[in-house]
Amino acid sequence: MRLSADDGQLRALVGRTRVFLLDLDGTVYIGDEPIGPMARTLAAVRSSGRKLVFCTNNSSKSAQAYARKLKKLGLFGREDEVYTSGIAAAEYLRANFAGKRVFLVGTAALRREFSARGIALDDADPDVCVLAYDTALTFRKLALFNRFLAEGKPYIATHADAVCPAKGVYPPDVGSFIELLRCSSGRVPDVVCGKPGPVMGGLLASHLGVAANEVAMVGDRPYTDIRFGNNNGFGTVLVLSGETDAAAAEKLPPSDRPQAILNSFNDIEKYL
Ligand SMILES: [Mg+2]
Repeated sequence: MRLSADDGQLRALVGRTRVFLLDLDGTVYIGDEPIGPMARTLAAVRSSGRKLVFCTNNSSKSAQAYARKLKKLGLFGREDEVYTSGIAAAEYLRANFAGKRVFLVGTAALRREFSARGIALDDADPDVCVLAYDTALTFRKLALFNRFLAEGKPYIATHADAVCPAKGVYPPDVGSFIELLRCSSGRVPDVVCGKPGPVMGGLLASHLGVAANEVAMVGDRPYTDIRFGNNNGFGTVLVLSGETDAAAAEKLPPSDRPQAILNSFNDIEKYL
């Protein structure tokens, strides 16, 4: 356990952090259970003047749905925000494809989020294609998407996780859809918005109006959460409350190595 060796570094990291980006499952809750006294911990972080943004790659649910769940668990404060890879894709489109018509393979919740941001959805003759975590995916949508890819339309994916964390066997996520479409069309996404790439990180930092080094990413997955922080110049805190244990944390490649490790985010309280 390197916790004591990280003490000074953690103090410095927390000292310069204005915004904590928090992963959800494995970091603040597991399933429907908050991890330890997380409600108290998050309240202490807010009282220290720091902002909390819950940050997830899951583009199948709306930010409001996550906020509702977090509120129910007592984990959501009035100034907190939720940022999904679906929102990142919508913001990316507004910045880079303004006024263009979009074919979205995504849930009804994400379609509403796109529409609320003024993005015109078009299933017949779009300018750009977006692949999200569509839990109502149909053959018709796949075949249409494949046709638009063959016609050379720009191709954006919300994220590229191969599977979605769940109880029992993990179901296929967007990364698996990407492989299917690579097989049929020969194309891979031109842009992937979510963790661990730079798109969502850049959008978040500018949305929050802070410098990269004033942001700290906290998560339990080294190859998405920690790599995301490292790729974007954020501070990085790995928590051992989810899918990574202390032994695995010792053996990470440089790209996925965090600046600090905590047993859970609850241990942040003494550094605030
Ligand atoms: Mg997680």
